[in-house]
Amino acid sequence: MVTKNNERSCPVCKNIAKENLFHNEMASIDIFDLSYDVVACKNCLFVYADGIPSEEVYKNYYTKCSKYDVVKKQNDIPTLAVERANYAMEFIMPYISSDTAILDIGSSIGVLLNEFKKHGYLKLKGIDPSPNSPDLAKKLFGIEVT
Ligand SMILES: [Zn+2]
Repeated sequence: MVTKNNERSCPVCKNIAKENLFHNEMASIDIFDLSYDVVACKNCLFVYADGIPSEEVYKNYYTKCSKYDVVKKQNDIPTLAVERANYAMEFIMPYISSDTAILDIGSSIGVLLNEFKKHGYLKLKGIDPSPNSPDLAKKLFGIEVT
């Protein structure tokens, strides 16, 4: 099991005293446990993720365990992913105009960005650490993901 124990000081004020708010337990996948704590800085009250896995763990996870690697065509995309994207669209659209630039960090293959595209948004870009996401986003949706 690859574990993490990267305790962090407050990203805002660098204070090390913090209060644990809750442990975000993630299901272990393969050898990866991506669970972490959500804490509040006792000095400035900033809330942040603590005990997060190392960058190397995330890099290995996204290289070996991308859930979208099995997607070869649009019909392969899990229904839940499309429903989640539609729910996010309904939430976001009242607050933005159709010429808004959209950057989706952690976009995977661009399912959410494609929903924006269907609704007429043209300035779309995704960022994702999975090595296959850029090619799949381009092939499936014509959307740029780096
Ligand atoms: Zn702080």
